[in-house]
Amino acid sequence: MALYVQKYGGTSVGSLERIAAVAERVKLTRAQGHDVVVVVSAMSGETNRLLGMAQQLDPDATRREVDVLISTGEQVTIALLAIALNQCGCPAVSMTGDQVRIHTDSAHGKARITHIDTEPVRAQLAAGKVVVIAGFQGRDEHNAITTLGRGGSDTTAVAVAAAIGADECQIFTDVDGVYTTDPRIEPKARRLSTITFEEMLEMASLGAKVLQIRSVEFAGKYRVPLRVLSSFADGEGTLITYGGERMEAPLVSGIAFNRNEASLTILGVPDRPTVAAQILGPISDANIDVDMIVQNTLGDGSADFTFTVNRDDFRRARALLESTATELGASCVQGNESIAKVSIVGVGMWNHPGVARTMFRVLGEHGINMQLISTSEIKISVVVDEKYLELAVRSLHDAFALDREPQEQPMGG
Ligand code: ADP
Ligand code: ASP
Ligand code: MG
Repeated sequence: MALYVQKYGGTSVGSLERIAAVAERVKLTRAQGHDVVVVVSAMSGETNRLLGMAQQLDPDATRREVDVLISTGEQVTIALLAIALNQCGCPAVSMTGDQVRIHTDSAHGKARITHIDTEPVRAQLAAGKVVVIAGFQGRDEHNAITTLGRGGSDTTAVAVAAAIGADECQIFTDVDGVYTTDPRIEPKARRLSTITFEEMLEMASLGAKVLQIRSVEFAGKYRVPLRVLSSFADGEGTLITYGGERMEAPLVSGIAFNRNEASLTILGVPDRPTVAAQILGPISDANIDVDMIVQNTLGDGSADFTFTVNRDDFRRARALLESTATELGASCVQGNESIAKVSIVGVGMWNHPGVARTMFRVLGEHGINMQLISTSEIKISVVVDEKYLELAVRSLHDAFALDREPQEQPMGG
């Protein structure tokens, strides 16, 4: 007998029919003799709908109240799923993040889980119940409801799995595993039967939304056995593996992208030490994450400084940068909200300079201009105009022959 945490995302619980289908799947797992904790998302579209309402009343609504609002989506789903489970003869009980006692810090909208009390969940399991937990939400030390950032139910699931020592955390979604790239953009994308933790971490951090980045971090920290599978069809899905060298490490194993980015440039700042800290200080004080950073020294004692942020933070970041620009006597601030970041990922590419050359050549041949570039041992990212995103993903997928098994792929060069 095993203990499973099964997480079902928005599309998987998007209608009453889907919820009934999930109940059947959970019931089947129970019938095989396993204990099950289920974590659910809000029904698809619901979180956006709720956010839209807050936005209409006040684009700068306090984050505390926005969290109270958007956490309701998951509360609806836990109740509906528990009702469906009880109705089909599978005893179940729903629990909000607060009832489970998922403690978080107070960073509303992107709170981090600090601790989970396992007692309330264990007590229900011991009573023979399936426990249905609301994903995406927790509570902080002031008793306020917090949310974990978009896609945060993945993180709830992995954190709960770590806390209760589950045998496997199964992320059921609308694709049947992790692919070489988003199969909705590139139909030739190939499902991976396994992916290393390092690759998954990189893919998630670079925008592959199939798993929220923090869920992967959590899984790595506690070595949670983690699998991505389809809630619509049976199959093995993709297992995230830890440690151990891969026999056939391909140079490039996947392509990730992120549309939710925007860039900001401050032109003509004094070229002297501490200026970068002066520019980024207020941004980080405002809890805005900065991704890529590039500085160009112009040779006349001044420099241009560009960085990228989440598109949701663009307005706030721009306002902060404008006041820094005045303080520093900079010439102006420019913003671009229609960019996208495309990244190639692979643990095998760190000592193959030919990979970068292939990437740049392929983008160039398709007339795609690279606005920013950043590299690490296991990825190369470029920022391009958003309208070229799909073309970039598909042409790179082709160039690195990702539709083929690693043994058949050509070496980059
Ligand atoms: P859920 O609502 O179940 O959490 P998400 O929409 O958050 O589902 O994540 C699943 C989606 O992730 C897929 O529908 C797919 O479009 C997208 N995706 C992006 N990159 C990948 C990838 N490399 N492999 C599989 N799916 C991916
Ligand atoms: N409902 C939340 C969202 O849409 C959390 C999740 O689905 O994981 O981001
Ligand atoms: Mg998701």
